[in-house]
Amino acid sequence: MEEVSMQPTRTYTNGEITVEWRAELCTHCKNCLSGLPTVFDPNKRPWVNMGGASSDAIKEQVAECPSGALKLLHELQQLPC
Ligand code: SF4
Repeated sequence: MEEVSMQPTRTYTNGEITVEWRAELCTHCKNCLSGLPTVFDPNKRPWVNMGGASSDAIKEQVAECPSGALKLLHELQQLPC
């Protein structure tokens, strides 16, 4: 697994999944906005609305972030069994 040492700039959760966003990595390509505008909208605060789509839809869009600025929390941590 790729190691990410930077702390996330922001974290967003819907109680089921948690999305982390790292400002330093974001290229502002707007992939997330065009793919899932009900969740990702840089013109709103907070800019990630975790109630705007299903967890599965959010997971799929996070996976499309080309820079790795968006990640799911479980992608970065190995939880003990
Ligand atoms: S898709 Fe990723 S890199 Fe592009 S604007 Fe969204 S968070 Fe930033």
